[in-house]
Amino acid sequence: MTVSVVLFTSDLRLHDHPPLRAALEGSSAVVPLFVRDRGVEAAGFAAPNRLAFLADCLRDLDAGLRERGGRLVVRTGDVVEEVCRVAAEAAAGEVHLAAGVSAYAHRREQRLRAALEGGRCRLHVHDAVITALPPGAVAPASSDHFAVFTPYFRRWSQQRLRDVLGAPGRIRVPDAVGSERLPSRRGLSGLSERLAAGGEAEGRRRLTAWLRGGIAAYEERHDDLAGDATSRLSPHLHFGTLSPVEVVHRARRAGGPGAEAFVRQLVWRDFHHQVLAARPAAAHADYRPRHDRWRSGSAARADIEAWREGRTGYPLVDAAMRQLRHEGWMHNRGRLLTASFLSKTLYVDWRVGARHFLDLLVDGDVANNQLNWQWVAGTGTDTRPGRVLNPLAQARRHDPDGAYVRRWVPELAGLGGPAVHQPWRLSGPERAECAGYPEPIVDLSDGLARFRRARGRAGAAEEPRP
Ligand code: FAD
Repeated sequence: MTVSVVLFTSDLRLHDHPPLRAALEGSSAVVPLFVRDRGVEAAGFAAPNRLAFLADCLRDLDAGLRERGGRLVVRTGDVVEEVCRVAAEAAAGEVHLAAGVSAYAHRREQRLRAALEGGRCRLHVHDAVITALPPGAVAPASSDHFAVFTPYFRRWSQQRLRDVLGAPGRIRVPDAVGSERLPSRRGLSGLSERLAAGGEAEGRRRLTAWLRGGIAAYEERHDDLAGDATSRLSPHLHFGTLSPVEVVHRARRAGGPGAEAFVRQLVWRDFHHQVLAARPAAAHADYRPRHDRWRSGSAARADIEAWREGRTGYPLVDAAMRQLRHEGWMHNRGRLLTASFLSKTLYVDWRVGARHFLDLLVDGDVANNQLNWQWVAGTGTDTRPGRVLNPLAQARRHDPDGAYVRRWVPELAGLGGPAVHQPWRLSGPERAECAGYPEPIVDLSDGLARFRRARGRAGAAEEPRP
């Protein structure tokens, strides 16, 4: 009997899974393994919201495997030690794994290769599992990766993606290999109240509903904050309960301008992954250093706290920050605005904001989070690093009647119309209506002037005022 181990990481699905397909083709039995990696916890990456979503994903993966005669093997410890232990217990000749992009994933792969080569087990690393196109598949003549999105998008669009693989039939797991109990949501504290459910079945249900109902209007409505008209597939793409290759193929089949705009967003995901794969240090170091001397000290600390709590006095910023806490998710327009507000208007180090997002986001992802933060902060790949989003202009465009603010900021829920965006302008009974809501913590012009001084006047341009 030939046995292979499939190590699942950010690819918690059975459909369109190249490592599983290869393992099944080359062996008579397979050990589907997930390691609750102590190294991930030590790196501060095990946030409660993501652990809860992960627990759903593992239960669903186990259920899918059981329907096919198999089961999921779960172990806890150092990922390399656990893989070697399981490979030895199963007398496995091969280990299959999806290629990752972070420094941590690269190290894991190197350590696994070194450890397995000592025995008689070969490591196979598979591309185009976690991204649609593998990082490095396209590159400009002068570099190992694209540093600007538009030319990347052009080249990406000319490539043919691999075909989608079906889900496997029967799976045989050797009896000798035992598993720990599957983790559950029970006992996790600090979860967001309205956290999405995880798992491949849920991801596929959402994708099908999105392709039927939402995608057609995506181009016009994706920035409508109150309309909530985006796919909300990000946690499923982060945990790999959906395959990005399959999502692109199915979106293209749906067709139309909505599908085109949606696929373009998925290419942003590949774009950030290829940047991180080529420059793993960009997870924490400025991709393009601007020699910032970020604010620190007690005034900065008070501003950071107000930002985290959604009490900056700018209703749109506060609504988005409160959505993050309540749902473990935030609309992309909210992410852009709150990140610009912290890193530019308040001139606080983007790493502080990125950390807070990672503590709460159910889709919190090293490539997407850190590189989007850098993009907004002007230390990343934005070709207009000096742009500063004005919360009032953003409100006028993306929440014109204030419905998003009223949904998330109860102190302002009694105010009608766009007045909700500038409560400081109200007087009399309307002003009394929003008692308890804070005054703005910063004057927008002062914030802009400070940022311009820090970065050089030419580099900073504000949006037009409303
Ligand atoms: P849709 O609009 O339906 O887009 C479809 C998919 O495209 C998304 O699920 C996502 O996988 C991808 N996508 C969309 N926009 C982007 C983008 N700008 N960059 C990369 N991929 C994108 N996304 C994450 O998945 N994890 C993060 O940790 C994360 N942190 C972010 C931090 C900041 C400061 C900013 C500005 C953006 C961040 N994003 C992150 C990107 C984006 O905001 C989310 O992917 C999106 O809001 C998820 O909602 P959705 O699934 O409804 O997106």
